[in-house]
Amino acid sequence: MRIETDAVVVGAGGAALWAALELAREGVPTAVLTKLYPTRSHTGAAQGGVCAALGNLEEDHWEWHMFDTVKGGDYLSDQDAAEVLAREAIERVVELEHMGLPFNRTPDGRIDQRRFGGHTRDFGEGPVKRSCFAADRTGHMILQTLYQQCIKAGVRFYDEYHVVDLVFEGGDAGDGGRAAGVVAYRIADGELHTFRAKAVLIATGGYGRAWRITSNAYTLAGDGMAMAYRRGVPLEDMEFYQFHPTGIYGIGILLSEAARGEGGYLTNRDGERFMERYAPRLMELAPRDMVSRAIYLEVRDGRGIGGRDYVHLDVSHLGRKVIEEKLPDITDFARIYLGVEPLKEPVPIQPTAHYAMGGIPTDLATRVIRDPEGTVVPGLFAAGEAACVSVHGANRLGTNSLVDLLVFGRRAGIGMAAYARGAAMPEVAPDADEPVRAEIEGLRGRRSGERPQAIRAELGLLMDANVGVFRDEALLSEAVRRIAELRDRYAAVAVQDAGTTFNTDLLETRELGYLLDCAEATAASALARKESRGAHSREDYPERDDAGWLAHTMAYRREGEQPELRYRPVTITRFGPKPRTY
Ligand SMILES: Cc1cc2nc3c(=O)[nH]c(=O)nc-3n(C[C@H](O)[C@H](O)[C@H](O)COP(=O)(O)OP(=O)(O)OC[C@H]3O[C@@H](n4cnc5c(N)ncnc54)[C@H](O)[C@@H]3O)c2cc1C
Repeated sequence: MRIETDAVVVGAGGAALWAALELAREGVPTAVLTKLYPTRSHTGAAQGGVCAALGNLEEDHWEWHMFDTVKGGDYLSDQDAAEVLAREAIERVVELEHMGLPFNRTPDGRIDQRRFGGHTRDFGEGPVKRSCFAADRTGHMILQTLYQQCIKAGVRFYDEYHVVDLVFEGGDAGDGGRAAGVVAYRIADGELHTFRAKAVLIATGGYGRAWRITSNAYTLAGDGMAMAYRRGVPLEDMEFYQFHPTGIYGIGILLSEAARGEGGYLTNRDGERFMERYAPRLMELAPRDMVSRAIYLEVRDGRGIGGRDYVHLDVSHLGRKVIEEKLPDITDFARIYLGVEPLKEPVPIQPTAHYAMGGIPTDLATRVIRDPEGTVVPGLFAAGEAACVSVHGANRLGTNSLVDLLVFGRRAGIGMAAYARGAAMPEVAPDADEPVRAEIEGLRGRRSGERPQAIRAELGLLMDANVGVFRDEALLSEAVRRIAELRDRYAAVAVQDAGTTFNTDLLETRELGYLLDCAEATAASALARKESRGAHSREDYPERDDAGWLAHTMAYRREGEQPELRYRPVTITRFGPKPRTY
């Protein structure tokens, strides 16, 4: 089936929904395609908060927020993007409040705010309360609020449409082509639908499922990143992947940084608050890359709990009222998954793969760029975790992702509307879906061969062990080699379900292909970067090297070979790189 519309939004998380809302406000006919029911999108899992320098409880300024974002990103953030984020955060949070989002309140009725890692007053002097929150369900409230607004504005949703390819006019994105639509697989009956459109937004979220221990849902397989990568768009800064310090031990489900923001401690085998040794001023509220490294070093030095590979998160001293009013969900997770009662005892935690700082490169208007010179792919936009604008640099601060969705999701909607108004409808060949149809038919019902689950499990273990918090040449070289082997095995994978109705076997197999693409770009970019910066910690190159490596990586897919890597300069406007202490 063919459907024609002005704009297509792929995804229905926070970034996508704000873009769709803006398109609706501008009167642009839009189709939102999502493989999940919109309110199941992963934004709904976000817990701790969305930051904005409102200054409701303590003095705060957007310039401080911008500085913290740049310093937190180990000076790899593009500072024009960090400025946009910090300035527009304030308007977006107030707008959400006006849409009816039920934020926690101060006694005098203003939005309550709490501390989060790396957010400081007066350019690094001490922690500041900047995170706005709705208990530990902030993402859930944002998603519900935006979805309701979209419904009210008449946005057209195509739920359970799994986008399987991007369509271009005049060659692929890498050859100067222009976005012309997408091909989607309707999950209910396996039918392919071609959506022809002038403007396409990729807002498909992250790829945390490349690791075994992760806070991410099964669906976060880097679909949009990989589809763009296959069509000639480079992936930017993939070596910078965030490991959140406090995942539930053994399973990785997140216990939000809000627990530390409210005053929770991290302790080792000796009951010591070990962060004193690593970040004496901010302690547990140091940025995530530092806290995750500290946990690994404690474990490596034998100070894990009982000599094992985890430490404790202790909130028991906060008291029942704070826990029940501000941290209800995450304390329930500890009860449910570990049988631990956080009111009385500490919770076992370990770092967990959490967030992609890298992704599809864009400019400030969220237009996708395809080379270090900033050449735009006409009609193609990206926002949210799938994109790299680059605001988070080498390490994202907690609560800066949700605000990234709001600020750049809105910019995407405005930019797409302007583009769609001025552009002619692109030509789309009647057989535009043919390549992906052939791939799907080839996979469906290919009963002989290896099961994809085995490859997925191996990939997860490999990424945990070799592309984790600490890396070196040997680990990364092995990762690159073995990911290539896993790709070869994937080419002959078996799909047992030959049917067309809700064939999740088939779709999960395609998702594995996306994960392998993202893992390939991550490992190759990490192997090449011979320095330590933010979340990329090379034990063989422990120092940051601004002379050699203050640059963004752009990884291009090369069929049957390792990705080609190019580099693009970092935009520095206000804050020159300095040593990063907390
Ligand atoms: C447990 C957890 C807690 C977090 N807490 C916070 C927090 O407190 N503060 C903060 O700032 N950040 C937090 N984050 C990070 C933040 O939630 C995410 O980075 C953000 O929500 C990503 O939003 P998104 O709009 O980019 O994509 P998502 O919300 O992940 O949505 C992706 C969308 O893409 C769709 N999609 C994907 N592939 C396809 C396809 N092939 N076809 C069609 N549709 C597709 C999905 O259906 C979905 O609608 C947290 C993350 C996790 C995992």
